[in-house]
Amino acid sequence: VLTDFQALKTTLKEKGVKYAIASFVDLHGMCKAKMVPLTHFEQMMQGSELFTGAALNGVPQEINDEEVATMPDPASATVLPWNSEIAWFASDLYVGGKPFEACCRSILKNALKQAADMGFQFNLGIETEFFIFKDTADGGFRPVSDRDTIAKAAYAVPTLLDNYNILDTIVSAMNQLGWGVYSFDHEDAQGQFETDFGYCDALTMSDRLTFFRLMVKELARQHGYFASFMPKPYSNQTGSGAHYNMSLSDIKTGENLFLSNDDPRGCKLSTLGYQFIAGILKHAPAICAVIAPTVNSYKRLVAQGSMSGFTWAPVYICYGNNNRTNMLRIPLAGGRVECRAADISTNLYLGAAMILTAGLEGIREGLDPGEPHTENMYKYTAQERMAKGIQSLPRTLGEAIESFAADPLGETVMGALMYQTYIDFKTQEWLEYHNHISDWERQRYLKFF
Ligand code: GLU
Ligand code: MG
Ligand code: MG
Repeated sequence: VLTDFQALKTTLKEKGVKYAIASFVDLHGMCKAKMVPLTHFEQMMQGSELFTGAALNGVPQEINDEEVATMPDPASATVLPWNSEIAWFASDLYVGGKPFEACCRSILKNALKQAADMGFQFNLGIETEFFIFKDTADGGFRPVSDRDTIAKAAYAVPTLLDNYNILDTIVSAMNQLGWGVYSFDHEDAQGQFETDFGYCDALTMSDRLTFFRLMVKELARQHGYFASFMPKPYSNQTGSGAHYNMSLSDIKTGENLFLSNDDPRGCKLSTLGYQFIAGILKHAPAICAVIAPTVNSYKRLVAQGSMSGFTWAPVYICYGNNNRTNMLRIPLAGGRVECRAADISTNLYLGAAMILTAGLEGIREGLDPGEPHTENMYKYTAQERMAKGIQSLPRTLGEAIESFAADPLGETVMGALMYQTYIDFKTQEWLEYHNHISDWERQRYLKFF
């Protein structure tokens, strides 16, 4: 192993790397690390870097606990496209020489191990929606281009061109890393963009999304802008999803096990795929607490709240064919399932672990999700929905976290320590918000009553 590290060090040195970062994530999926001179590289790769978890958000440790150590994954070596003197590594957390039970990346690895034991590789593609804004003198923010108007912003070419420099910087960096960007566009809201790139195994994708958010923030900053992964910055425009495009393949042959060319339901999805969907639907509210993890996330999961008349975001726990009003959609080509409830603030390690474990349960129990919804789900009245037994997604973080706390799935996936930490942390976040009296309330009620 040591010689492997020495070989990697030589390669990095040849590329002009001076420092390495063994990065892990807090509960929000934000990168945390120390910078280590390359002279100390072998030590870093063997877990020399120590951190006081108690100082961070949702890294459950007391101040007197033994520190957590980062164990970098050599396969994740990434030379920063904007600074070739620094190499970034995704790391697992250890404590006292053993895996730390509340490490987000290890939690995903445990879930992937369950899938592997069943003969599956979990493949994941994330559609990255995000905003690029400029600060304004009055402390506000605005889109980069003054042509970026609110009416029908989706797919606008002029504003795509106005943002060419920053978008080209981002996309070139992604391609330099070998991610295979195949398109990027202006999304439905002012200043909102999406970059789409190739899917891969879920661990690599989680490392990539974690790095992506760091990178896009840095690159935007270099252009004098700021990037935002807040799920819903505007009340009346679409939010930023992070659709999870999922499939299971045979771990030996690589064959896509979700693809079927004789699907009687007409979605080109296999029985295995339907079972996976059924497992996710069964645990949807608890999963939501993790894939839509903030107070703001639930302002995105509404039917109205955009100038196009619809938000493209799901509101109900249901699945359908190539139909964007469902929580789970089977895109036209078949062979994969897209979860539309997830937003771009997701900690993908935890989110992917939750959704995979629910899907595997659906497979183990041979569950069936029923017929796909082909109709516009936004048009249902409450009565129609009730009659069909379709439940709503959680409407607030408070509802979501209550569902998470009531569903054993979370503890199965995260282990007791992280499960309780997640509940406590998110309950606190919800209460802070809920207990705050806003200007909207005072304007509405102070003199009215
Ligand atoms: N921005 C939408 C969302 O909040 C998704 C738009 C799309 O389907 O690309 O999920
Ligand atoms: Mg999109
Ligand atoms: Mg999508």
